[in-house]
Amino acid sequence: MNKINYSKETEKIIDGVRAGGRAPRLLLHSCCAPCSSHCMEYLREYFDLTVYYYNPNITEDAEYRYRLSEEKRLIAEYNRQVEEGDFAGMHSGPGARKIQILEAPYDPGNWALAVRGLEDCPEGGDRCRACFEMRLRMAARAAAEGKFDYFTTTLTISPMKNAALLNEIGMALSREYGVSWLPSDFKKRDGYKRSIELSRQFGLYRQDYCGCGYSKAERERAAKGAEGSKGT
Ligand code: SF4
Repeated sequence: MNKINYSKETEKIIDGVRAGGRAPRLLLHSCCAPCSSHCMEYLREYFDLTVYYYNPNITEDAEYRYRLSEEKRLIAEYNRQVEEGDFAGMHSGPGARKIQILEAPYDPGNWALAVRGLEDCPEGGDRCRACFEMRLRMAARAAAEGKFDYFTTTLTISPMKNAALLNEIGMALSREYGVSWLPSDFKKRDGYKRSIELSRQFGLYRQDYCGCGYSKAERERAAKGAEGSKGT
């Protein structure tokens, strides 16, 4: 079976938006400021964007709040650019629109229930599938309630995450909630590279683990292993 090029699918929808002349309302689920940096830079030219922050997977309250504050700081900077017409160093220009943010509750207890029995799965396995499904379901529900035209997620920018799986989950939820899914593979076309450049440009906090306690422990074990092998 031919693999779907989700990046091309985004471009096809954007071509339609250009021809239509109206910016559709898009609810963009975001996991963190670095991952959203390129996605917002790219999409704000074509969509009326609202960032949806729902990440109960994040292991500690302080970490959650720090990632959220970085997201808000970046959105404020992008909105300042629009207000002042100052797009120095950016790949998007005068067509860019201001961005809003919608914060969902931080409910790690519900996340723990969603991944119950899958705690020991390695990163990229069934625990992550359940985690994606939970966060995207909330995004789909919020998009339906808010009468958005589309919803999608920044998660496809990560080379560590399965973009095909994320798109499959998004499309299934789109059918369930009656809101169009914007297909994406944001890492393509140098999207991931651009997110690193933008993170440097704005001095964003870039965490070295995905979010949950299991991914944090995995990263700590890997770091210790690397240190141990240096000594042998
Ligand atoms: S590694 Fe990331 S995607 Fe997977 S369960 Fe943990 S927080 Fe969710």
